[in-house]
Amino acid sequence: MIRIPKGCKDVLPAEAGKWQALERIARESAEAYGFGEIRTPVFEHTELFQRGVGDTTDVVTKEMYTFLDKGGRSITLRPEGTAGVARAFVENGLQGGAMPFKAYYFVSAFRYERPQAGRLREFHQFGAELYGAAGPEADAEIISLADLFLKRIGIGGTVLEINSIGCKNCRTAYSAALKEYFAPRLSEMCEDCNARFSRNPMRILDCKNPRCKEIAAGAPTVLDFLCEDCAAHFASVQSLLTETGIAYRVNPAIVRGLDYYSRTVFEFVTEAAGAQGTVLAGGRYDTLLEQMDAKPTPAVGFAAGMERLLMVLEAEKSEVGTVSAVDCYVAGMDGPSRRKAFLLAEELRRAGFSCETDLLDRSVKAQMKYADKIGARFVVVLGSRELEEGAAEVKNMRTSSSERVAFDQIAQTIRSAT
Ligand code: ATP
Ligand code: MG
Repeated sequence: MIRIPKGCKDVLPAEAGKWQALERIARESAEAYGFGEIRTPVFEHTELFQRGVGDTTDVVTKEMYTFLDKGGRSITLRPEGTAGVARAFVENGLQGGAMPFKAYYFVSAFRYERPQAGRLREFHQFGAELYGAAGPEADAEIISLADLFLKRIGIGGTVLEINSIGCKNCRTAYSAALKEYFAPRLSEMCEDCNARFSRNPMRILDCKNPRCKEIAAGAPTVLDFLCEDCAAHFASVQSLLTETGIAYRVNPAIVRGLDYYSRTVFEFVTEAAGAQGTVLAGGRYDTLLEQMDAKPTPAVGFAAGMERLLMVLEAEKSEVGTVSAVDCYVAGMDGPSRRKAFLLAEELRRAGFSCETDLLDRSVKAQMKYADKIGARFVVVLGSRELEEGAAEVKNMRTSSSERVAFDQIAQTIRSAT
């Protein structure tokens, strides 16, 4: 038997209801803020991610699915959604359109990581991007959207953690301070952190190695290095959140794993589902569009991991998106009544109900068992007597009551019982 590749997951019909519910709530939340959907390709030129995500990040250095296509081009399966949206924005000339530009997306993303709970090689994200607004209101709006989405899906116990990693200027001073702190400790740290030390010392703060984490805990905090403008921006984001009634905690250890961030960064974290506790993460990336050869355009956004959200909802025994049962099962006893059952089922579907009838030539008893298994809300059984009378018992499976109804009144009966 051929098996699914490592780190991938099937979504079966019985689970799809939860995905659909999350996606529906995500769309409704994004649209409440005036965001429109954007869809970009699953693969892009490798260079887009090297430039957009940053070639000192784990994602680009270790995790990308990159290959040469038959034309010899280097292609990469997208490891995240932001770079593709930025490319599409520039390429389609949307810079000349209405500002701010607001878009949300659902993407499958691909990262060659060690598979474990909450860490897959193909996973899915819901994300939102807001371009063209530099002020703290935009940060607050994007965080509010994230917060509304999480509240609406009914996830409990997530904590919003925010930080500011400043602009390029703040970071020059901060990087120097980090180097000074880490230099004498490098021999105790992992190989990756040793490489990060020279390329981008802030990356060390994102290392998952326990010893590196311990050492990083004592490092200088970026908040002490913010310039006046960045500090004022961060203070305004915080007061807007407070006024909106969104609780948060400042956590200077958050630096985010991708290179494009500046100023505000944030994560919604939870302890409900084990080690992979970040369900939604984002921040501001004011230099990303410039790196895509666009004119300087401030940007802020987030991405939520769908599988992690579902894991947490499962751990919390949430009812979100339980699969809806079919409205009606129509059973037939013999040849002519089976034919009528087929036609009646079709009529009910066209009247707007979900409906099933027998396709396997099963006995009435077996048909009833099936109707029970799928949780049909109503059952209609047709035999020769029903055909003669042009009427049948419509049984309400929830209440066990039933009534005799003319064929052309069955839809009406089901409707009035709903
Ligand atoms: P982590 O620190 O957990 O590796 P990240 O910083 O790499 O996360 P982002 O690139 O910000 O994650 O992606 C946003 C969200 O996508 C994460 O918060 C998480 O919910 C989800 N996510 C990231 N990588 C994976 C993965 N390999 N499998 C499942 N979900 C993931
Ligand atoms: Mg990661």
